[in-house]
Parts: sequence; C-alpha cells; structure tokens
Amino acid sequence: MLLNYLLKENGLRILVIEDEVKIAGAISQKLKAEGFVVDIAPDGGTGEEYAMVNEYDAIILDIMLPVQDGWKVCSNLRNQNVLVPILMLTALDDVSDKIKGLNGGADDYLPKPFHFGELIARIRSLIRRNSSVRSTQMERFGITLDFNLRKAYRGQKEIVLTSKEYSLLELFMMNPDKILSRQFISEHLWDMNFDPQSNVIDSFVKFLRQKIDKGFDKPLIQTVRGSGYLFSDKER
Ligand code: CA
Repeated sequence: MLLNYLLKENGLRILVIEDEVKIAGAISQKLKAEGFVVDIAPDGGTGEEYAMVNEYDAIILDIMLPVQDGWKVCSNLRNQNVLVPILMLTALDDVSDKIKGLNGGADDYLPKPFHFGELIARIRSLIRRNSSVRSTQMERFGITLDFNLRKAYRGQKEIVLTSKEYSLLELFMMNPDKILSRQFISEHLWDMNFDPQSNVIDSFVKFLRQKIDKGFDKPLIQTVRGSGYLFSDKER
C-alpha cells in the first residue's frame, strides 16, 4: 500500500552522481537531514554502475561529469530498462538542455544554482509520482487523496481545494502525528517566498483547516503554540 511505502520514507535511497565534491557533499548532507539514505558517485561510469547494481528511489544526475556525461548515463540506464526517476542538474538554465534531458529519459531537471528546498521538493515529487504508478490513492485519518485527479475527500465528501491547499494537505498527510514548523512547511511548498515575519503559512493552514475540519466532529489540523502545526486524529 502506498501509505506504508511513504511511511518508510526514512529508508528512501538516493544516488547523487556529481563530480564536484563540495556540491555532492552539500546535497548529500541536506538529503540525509531529511532522512534519506544517500550514495555519491563521483563520475558517470561509477554512477551508471551503482544505478545498475542498487535499488534507488531517485537519482540526482549532474550533466558535466568525468568518464561519461549525464546524458550518456541517463540514456544508458533507460536502454538497460532502469526506470528509476532521474532529476538532472544543469549548469545553464537552457531550454535546449531541458528538452534534451527530457527526451533522453530524465524525469525532471533543475538549473544550477538551485535552492535546496526546491531540490528536496522535486525529489519528493518524483518519488511520489513514481510510487503513484502503483497506487493512486492515500488515506489517513479518514482523508483520502487521489493523486491522479489531485482531489481530496473526507469520508465520502469531496473537499474542493486550491492547488496550494492540496499540496499543503499532501505534506500533512505524509507527515502524520509530527509537528511541522512554519519553516518546514515553507521549505516544502518551495514556490512560496517565505518571510518569517509574514503570516502566509498561517493563512494557508487556516483556509485548509476551514475546508477539511469544518462540519466534522474531530479536527485534524491542530495548532501547536510556538512550534507549528500537527496533523493528527489524537487529542493533545
Ligand atoms: Ca560536474
């Protein structure tokens, strides 16, 4: 079941194929802080080898690499039927790079320099998309998400959400019974420019809460004073 798969998220394994030691180290550190297990390959040959031998949930692939470049790694893996989601890092924000990457079998691309919050969000989204091939729904505390239609239900009742509210609910559902700080939420809803002074997160949570909790006995989104928010069906 998808939920079990997602709850195992701490065990998700990512391969980083990147020759620049500093960048590879920084990416790895950030992913590990998020609970991922990370392997680093310093060149295209080693990267391909690792990807052939190990089971990864996603690959972060640089383009300019020793031995063979990222395009080659990507097409070799696809030719050998390795279908793991691949996020390519490009040095140039170049449209032709993007087209080449997507045609070559990459699932997404991210121009350098990038924000780590965005990298993490893209990786999570790729893994989720990949796992939703197997399962298209997720259920938690009576809330059901339909990943394909991006629809939410509480019991039988459909809850009409904006795209941002849906993403926020998805984030809560992937982190049940955990206190999520405003910082954590803002980093995962990466296209939101976060100003710690602003109450933008609080507003979004308020809107979402009105939609999913209004008219139901048990509130699921709880405010934890001074810390953030908690998605849970347990009384605190
Ligand atoms: Ca490089």
